Amino acid sequence: MTVVAPPAPPLPGPRTDRIYPTLEPGQLARIAAVGRRRSVARGEVLVEAGAQTVRLFVVVTGRLDVVRPSAVDEVVVSFGPGMFTGEATMLSGRRGLAQIRGGVDGEVIEVSRDDLLALIQSDSELSTMFMRAFILRRLELINRNVSDVVVLGSPHCQGTLRVHEFLTRNGHPHTMLDLDHDTGVQELLDRFHVAAADVPVVITCGEVVLRNPTNRQLADALGFNDAINQTQVRDLVIVGAGPAGLAAAVYGASEGLDVLMVEATAPGGQAGASSRIENYLGFPTGISGLDLAARAASQAQKFGAQLMIGTGARRLACERRPYALEIGDGQRLPGRAVIIATGAEYRRLPIDGLARFEGAGVYYAATFMEAQLCAGEEVIVVGAGNSAGQAAVFLAQTARRVHVLIRGGGLADTMSRYLIRRIEDHPAIVRHVHTELVSLAGNGHLEHVGWRDNPSGSIETHDIRHVFTMTGAVPSTRWLESCLALDAKGFIKTGPDLLPEDLATARWPLARAPHLLETSLPGVFAIGDVRAGSLKRVSSAVGEGSIAIAAVHQVLHE
Ligand SMILES: Cc1cc2nc3c(=O)[nH]c(=O)nc-3n(C[C@H](O)[C@H](O)[C@H](O)COP(=O)(O)OP(=O)(O)OC[C@H]3O[C@@H](n4cnc5c(N)ncnc54)[C@H](O)[C@@H]3O)c2cc1C
Repeated sequence: MTVVAPPAPPLPGPRTDRIYPTLEPGQLARIAAVGRRRSVARGEVLVEAGAQTVRLFVVVTGRLDVVRPSAVDEVVVSFGPGMFTGEATMLSGRRGLAQIRGGVDGEVIEVSRDDLLALIQSDSELSTMFMRAFILRRLELINRNVSDVVVLGSPHCQGTLRVHEFLTRNGHPHTMLDLDHDTGVQELLDRFHVAAADVPVVITCGEVVLRNPTNRQLADALGFNDAINQTQVRDLVIVGAGPAGLAAAVYGASEGLDVLMVEATAPGGQAGASSRIENYLGFPTGISGLDLAARAASQAQKFGAQLMIGTGARRLACERRPYALEIGDGQRLPGRAVIIATGAEYRRLPIDGLARFEGAGVYYAATFMEAQLCAGEEVIVVGAGNSAGQAAVFLAQTARRVHVLIRGGGLADTMSRYLIRRIEDHPAIVRHVHTELVSLAGNGHLEHVGWRDNPSGSIETHDIRHVFTMTGAVPSTRWLESCLALDAKGFIKTGPDLLPEDLATARWPLARAPHLLETSLPGVFAIGDVRAGSLKRVSSAVGEGSIAIAAVHQVLHE
């Protein structure tokens, strides 16, 4: 018997088949060959909520229930004969969100996570079925709010936005409670002496209470990195899981390398903050950055790459090989080869008091969340590149008016033609050329802005509460200290861009010249936006990720 239990509404047929497929006898036999048959009693708990996901179960007879732990123990879904448990945590090795227990007496096939990953890599039919089901089930859990995390905060507080973004971009379902609208929650916090600086408060698994946690503390509390052995010497350590790093992980792991990715916030990088990428090959109607990142991260993990989240690289220990990445607390992650894919950070406008309004009226990404905050209001987008263009077009769907402030005389040299056309055609978008934002004011939240018309020098003030700054980026290379040759702006030089004097200063020790994407240190590569001369596009970052792997193989055999 296979039913989706209330309260969730029944899903449409074909989609249900893909989320909760029933295995054919031949497929069952292939799984049975790597698993162990065992009986299950009614009410027997096979996996506790919050336990690391190390086993998958296929029902032979009887029924398994997936239960959301709560006062009433809500059954989220039930699996009958031929169906299997598991969702995205089977790939990542993270902790499960719900409990799995016997619904009636029966028999199951139990498969360890390692055996499942090996099966996925060798059996393409089962691989497709499992991958699709795991990813769709995670989306389903998010949609149905099956979560073990509650965030109490305000949408006007920078920390709340950061925590919400961290959980969302890492695909972790969570419930937000808005202190500005739910006075009951605020009273509760007051009673427990939770000060404004402690917001947001995050409650995980109903037990751990975190006050304004860092990304690292949140990742630790949710066990994001529990499955990762941090002492093992890897073939390849990749720093940064934007499009470049993810592509390198997919190609590296699929070609048999032992790969670890280290990511400070969430997979996807800058692309993950893009509402819709329309010029990436193979997606004629566009794809959201979040979606692209989630797919790529699952793909890399399917091939065995591991992803460490919430941990920024602090230093590259480059004095001897194997190199090691230092990630704080004195921890070192050794790797025979290293790929640096740390991208670039948004440039901040040189305006007094800017930091006060970051997250409270000043934003560096225009996603669905920010669009909701300024629905029906006037907004400003600062910048003339593609990211500014995309933000303007996207925000114009919900905002009353979008002012695009352009320092130069137009967009033709800096923005793709298709975006320029959309901006020109949109009645709600107004372009202001030769114009710069010069002041921000407000009490807590941004309330007024001033912009200057450069030719006349006149300054206008407006009651506008939302500013999106999209003015380019600086490379994330400060942590590298003096390990590698950088260009004047701090981007990493590679391959033919390395001049003889760069190699002499770096004491390049080999007879051969550096490979195409290799830095001034043998076996250390730089790809994507962080590389000097890179194109600042998703597709070129992805391409560089794949090219670098060919050279990594050569270096590992040197
Ligand atoms: C809003 C927006 C829209 C865009 N739209 C498009 C588009 O439509 N088409 C297109 O082709 N391009 C687009 N781009 C550009 C594209 O997103 C970038 O070129 C691309 O993301 C670069 O990929 P990357 O992997 O090199 O770097 P990034 O995407 O910047 O990723 C770098 C990653 O490294 C991590 N990191 C940084 N430092 C450390 C550290 N010390 N330790 C660990 N991790 C670290 C960061 O957290 C980040 O996740 C857009 C950019 C933005 C901002």
